Amino acid sequence: METKDIILDLRTKNGLSQDELAEKVFVTRQAVSRWENGETVPNTETLKILSKLFDVSINTLLGCPRELICECCGMKLSDTDISREKDGSFNEHYCGWCYADGDFTMDFWKQYINLGGKEKFEEFKNQLIHEFNTLLHIEGLPKVESLNVLPGAFVNLEYTLPNGQKVKFLDDNATYLGNQLECEFGGDRCFGIAANMDFLLVCTYEENGENPELVV
Ligand SMILES: [Zn+2]
Repeated sequence: METKDIILDLRTKNGLSQDELAEKVFVTRQAVSRWENGETVPNTETLKILSKLFDVSINTLLGCPRELICECCGMKLSDTDISREKDGSFNEHYCGWCYADGDFTMDFWKQYINLGGKEKFEEFKNQLIHEFNTLLHIEGLPKVESLNVLPGAFVNLEYTLPNGQKVKFLDDNATYLGNQLECEFGGDRCFGIAANMDFLLVCTYEENGENPELVV
């Protein structure tokens, strides 16, 4: 969709007349009409106001000319996972797991980014991959090739201890680097790996994370 159709669409969906929208974003009705005719596009400041008003990213307002990628973890961004500043506005540079409320979410990322940005972060990821591949000798665990950023709530599985007690080891609100790997011997269970600066975790589980067992 082009900007003109997107603005028209958002305006009508929100039940606003051209006049009402014009008033909310401090322009004239004629300006709104020109946007919707495709004669002009809103300027940068107005795009920011429209983004806030309709709660969509500026990239979306412009018809998605760029593929947004989190500069921290590399994940593709859609409006639902773009990070936000304290005031609720979008920060289209990062995903909401890496960055929230005006700051990076994880101390070690913050630290690495402050030290050397993306390159340092990649280096740290490679170091973890190396550790998974060399320190742990787990039968059936294939070579780890990449790690993704995972929200804690996705990877914080509940394990049953031999005494029947159920425990979780991770923090739902934190983010981890991890991946899911098929067992080299096949079978129903696959490996889940997760790490942060302090630990490496390997577990196995059935489909959808059921019946997880901790390996290390
Ligand atoms: Zn990210």
